[in-house]
Amino acid sequence: MKKPVKVTITGAAGHIGYALAFRVASGEMFGPDQPVILRLLEIPQALSSLNGVGMELEDCALPLLHDIVLTDDPSIGFRETDYALLIGAKPRSKGMERKDLILENAKIFAAQGRSINDNASGDVRVLVVGNPANTNALIAASNAPDLANRQFTAMTRLDHNRTMGQLANKTNSLVADIKRVNIWGNHSMTQYPDISNCLIDGKPAYDLVTRDWVIDHMIPRIQRRGAEIIEARGLSSAASAADAVVDHVHDWALGTSENDWVSMSVMSDGSYGVSEGVVFSFPVTCKEGEYEIVQGLDLDELSQSRLKTSEKELLEERAIIQELLPKG
Ligand code: NDP
Repeated sequence: MKKPVKVTITGAAGHIGYALAFRVASGEMFGPDQPVILRLLEIPQALSSLNGVGMELEDCALPLLHDIVLTDDPSIGFRETDYALLIGAKPRSKGMERKDLILENAKIFAAQGRSINDNASGDVRVLVVGNPANTNALIAASNAPDLANRQFTAMTRLDHNRTMGQLANKTNSLVADIKRVNIWGNHSMTQYPDISNCLIDGKPAYDLVTRDWVIDHMIPRIQRRGAEIIEARGLSSAASAADAVVDHVHDWALGTSENDWVSMSVMSDGSYGVSEGVVFSFPVTCKEGEYEIVQGLDLDELSQSRLKTSEKELLEERAIIQELLPKG
């Protein structure tokens, strides 16, 4: 039997955390032969609800779940953890400015970066979902001086999966036959879903859809999909967000498929002219727990200008939280 992998989920009693914990514990993230230990972290006010999640996990009698730790203490939650999934974040309250939301969450993610640095495994992999996810990942990484920036990522996999879903629907194809879509930029309205290199059943996607449909329908719909779901359900997306967390970590840990790539927000190394020091979504391939940014893709003028818009937004977010970046 393999040694259990330790997985921390913050905000584990929230909507996404609740949808996620059971899937990690049942083996969907790391495979059917990999035991896991769940370390579920919440704020004190949510501990009672977290206890309920713990009881339900116990009641599932999942063979791969070797232990469950429920806590409101980050030093316990992150202790020796191998994967830190940072879901919990402060929601925007009525009348709150975007800048205030960024600053409020910046404090949370600075503290979590420090705690991960001091308590987690030296090989820990971190995924930030709590918004503004890209900038929160930058803050956490910058407050973890003993860890490498490449151990910190933010999630754009839901946007990636949404793009595949839209394309499959439009072209009457199977999702399994769609390869090489990607999301550039920030997990926000400025993100750029790109299908220039996409193949559907081996044929260029642009043989099956028009540029007008992509620009006028597909891209805005992906950018606004979160709001569309809130309007329909009266609640934000949770199951699909949890599903994307499973995909992101699964592929990072176990590798991407041959001839395909996925979208991950990672620290920019200057690829495609994107400023270093922002967490930006790129197409990446993964192997044995490491990712590489796909190089050499052609970007037409429209794509370049969309990348610049998202980069500008991330630089503005970085300027707001500059004083919380000790490494910067
Ligand atoms: P959710 O579980 O619905 O969402 C959690 C975070 O994920 C939010 O920041 C949300 O952003 C973000 N998110 C990213 N992508 C998506 C997506 N595609 N769809 C929806 N959300 C997305 O929030 P809840 O309020 O239900 O739960 C949050 C939990 O976190 C609570 O239980 C709370 O107690 C806990 N918490 C923990 C903290 C900590 O550990 N220090 C701090 C604050 C809260 P958005 O708001 O933009 O939807």
